Amino acid sequence: MTAKIIDGVAVAKAIRQECRERVQHIVAQRGIPPGLAVIIVGADPASQIYVRNKIRACANVGIKSFRFDYPAEVNPDTVIDKIMRLNDDPAVHGILVQLPLPPSFDMSRVLHSISADKDVDGFHLYNVGGLVVGGTVFPPCTPYGVLKLLEHERITLEGKNVVVVGASNIVGKPMALMLMQHEATVCICHAKTRDLAQFTMLADILVVAAGHPNLIQPEMVRTGAVVIDVGINRLKDGRLVGDVNFDGVAAKASCITPVPGGVGPMTVSMLLVNTITSCERWQQQNFAPMWTKFAPAQAIK
Ligand code: NAD
Repeated sequence: MTAKIIDGVAVAKAIRQECRERVQHIVAQRGIPPGLAVIIVGADPASQIYVRNKIRACANVGIKSFRFDYPAEVNPDTVIDKIMRLNDDPAVHGILVQLPLPPSFDMSRVLHSISADKDVDGFHLYNVGGLVVGGTVFPPCTPYGVLKLLEHERITLEGKNVVVVGASNIVGKPMALMLMQHEATVCICHAKTRDLAQFTMLADILVVAAGHPNLIQPEMVRTGAVVIDVGINRLKDGRLVGDVNFDGVAAKASCITPVPGGVGPMTVSMLLVNTITSCERWQQQNFAPMWTKFAPAQAIK
């Protein structure tokens, strides 16, 4: 069997066209475009590239972006104060803090200071809770992109065995919750899982987000499985690869995402979707805030 290669670039492009049309409609109705505020702390080169791509993607569909750069040694309260002001800014419908933050930052304190109503990355506790009960407004962008790819390929989830390799708060855990919501039977594996292959072999759909090149080898994959590779790893020779041995697994799977060109382009497109959704919510006559003023809680030790 030779797998069909899922073209994330093409699907992301189609979603951006839909975004453009939604933005045009918003502007025609209200005269104000959706607005996304992007905060970046420090000079991490990869983060600089990600932020530049997000801002370019916003411009491409007509979303207005507001970029705020801070040096790594900035006082975290300065950043939180900026977020609080953006929470009240009617031109801003989405707020994104580029991760990772410098080690001096308490990441959850920063992320939870973003209003749940502008939390387009979907990391606020309120939106995480929404994921658990199946009613979130802002699904986290990367797993949301994976679902859209599966939907585009008309791959049904109901009753399927899905194995998610990776249990991070940003990718693996929300991915598993979203798949469960679609009535898949979900198994989550992580770095401490013993004998990973005994789980991955059971997967009708295998989603891999571990950050290890070549983690998934052909003998770990069931013939005909759908394989979604979320991993992005830069090799010493400069090549970008995922977590899956692409050539070996493609000879056995029914569908597979490449790296680059699979899940990656979808992540930014889903950020645009969430920002537009947020703007549309704020413009509804009967807009009911989720939790606009959430005081960041102290962690209970
Ligand atoms: P993370 O480091 O926060 O989490 C990695 C997870 O993988 C952890 O749960 C860990 O336990 C698990 N893991 C690590 N080694 C493992 C192993 N040998 N076997 C099984 N599980 C293992 O990383 P993350 O933020 O979730 O990102 C994961 C990967 O996805 C990275 O390569 C990252 O660059 C990529 N990523 C891609 C996108 C995208 O848009 N395509 C977005 C976010 C992250």
